[in-house]
Amino acid sequence: MKDIKDNSKYTHYNFHHIEILKCKDCKDFLCEKVCFRGIYKVINKDSIPECLILSGREAFCVKCHLCTTVCKKKAILID
Ligand code: SF4
Ligand code: SF4
Repeated sequence: MKDIKDNSKYTHYNFHHIEILKCKDCKDFLCEKVCFRGIYKVINKDSIPECLILSGREAFCVKCHLCTTVCKKKAILID
């Protein structure tokens, strides 16, 4: 994952990496809908959407990869 961690296209969390520019054309926000651990929040849904990880929630991830599977833009990477 070193290449990804050095890549400024991504917003980096502890082990999630989100390429938020890919979110700008998103219409379905499936990351937020599918994550049963409540980790994601998509802001600016009516303008330029951007996927965030809610403060303090990342550690609740069980690495089920539902989010990486449903995101059509492939904007999410998980270490
Ligand atoms: S991470 Fe994927 S599903 Fe979530 S808002 Fe961005 S593009 Fe849409
Ligand atoms: S891997 Fe599963 S638990 Fe972790 S953020 Fe994605 S959907 Fe949520």
